[in-house]
Amino acid sequence: MMSKATPIPITILTGFLGAGKTTVLNRLLTAQHGLKIAVLVNDFGAINIDAQLVVGVEANEIVNLANGCICCTIREDLLSTTLELLERPDRPDYIIVEASGVSDPVSVALTFRLPALRSLISLAAIVAVVDAERIQEQRQQIVQVGDQIAAADIIVVNKIDLIDPAQQQRVINWIQAIVPRARILTAEYGVVPIDLLLGIGQYQIDLLADRHEFAHQHDQDWQTWHYQTANPFSMSSLQHAFQQLPNSIFRAKGIVYLAEAPERQAIVQLAGKRASLQLGEPWGATPPHSKIVVIGRSQSFDSAQLTAQFDACLAQPTHELREEILTVAEWRRKYQNQ
Ligand SMILES: [Zn+2]
Repeated sequence: MMSKATPIPITILTGFLGAGKTTVLNRLLTAQHGLKIAVLVNDFGAINIDAQLVVGVEANEIVNLANGCICCTIREDLLSTTLELLERPDRPDYIIVEASGVSDPVSVALTFRLPALRSLISLAAIVAVVDAERIQEQRQQIVQVGDQIAAADIIVVNKIDLIDPAQQQRVINWIQAIVPRARILTAEYGVVPIDLLLGIGQYQIDLLADRHEFAHQHDQDWQTWHYQTANPFSMSSLQHAFQQLPNSIFRAKGIVYLAEAPERQAIVQLAGKRASLQLGEPWGATPPHSKIVVIGRSQSFDSAQLTAQFDACLAQPTHELREEILTVAEWRRKYQNQ
């Protein structure tokens, strides 16, 4: 009865911080494709928010790979997690790896070429998601952006609606010059044809053969900061704080508890200079709380200052609450004076 297992296709989803990888991933997971997909999410930082922003679809499994970058510091975790998935009786039909925004996809791909995995996995595609509006600026500053595009065989130029046709052409020309053989798709809000991203066969670009050395550990190049609290935020103060974050912070995101909407989780994000806030699922059985993660260049921001800024955004006790406290104080005064 035992037949030799066919290799499981894997897609590596790459793209710089804020490009829209999680949005593309959510589109894939909610589309009608009938596949059981396992997703490995590598969020860079102590709290794994990306994994929580990935929609929970019953048939699919989402595994967090936190506490480091899968292309360098936690490559071992990527290897062992993948092996565990493959050894299960209910193996997934497809694996998607969402690499951290600062990782090198070639190093991630090389992990799947190690002897332990080589015959079990087939690399279907490396998909790079690009922020159409910010790419011109990012490519000057951040070496990873160009490297991620250079490794990909499919490029999704996301947020295409934010730039005019002439700018669109410039971005596409620039990408074509880097990877002439890649397929380039444009997208708004991460909407892409599913068939192009899943089950398309074999990664074609002969890049991996030339690369045997792994990238240096670049975790040190980036600084993360996080904030947790059980107290509610004031929505307007929080939005203001997100908009005021220094330019050296490339990405900030959080699941937060708002005084104005205490019954539902709010998702707050900053990509580039754009802050957004939307209401999500009800808290349900989970006690309301807030988690925020920020990523920027190493030594480019002051953690203590950020903590103070976000502390200042916590909602003040409501009027009624203040009155209640006053009543207790008055009662005490009265009682103690007797
Ligand atoms: Zn890395």
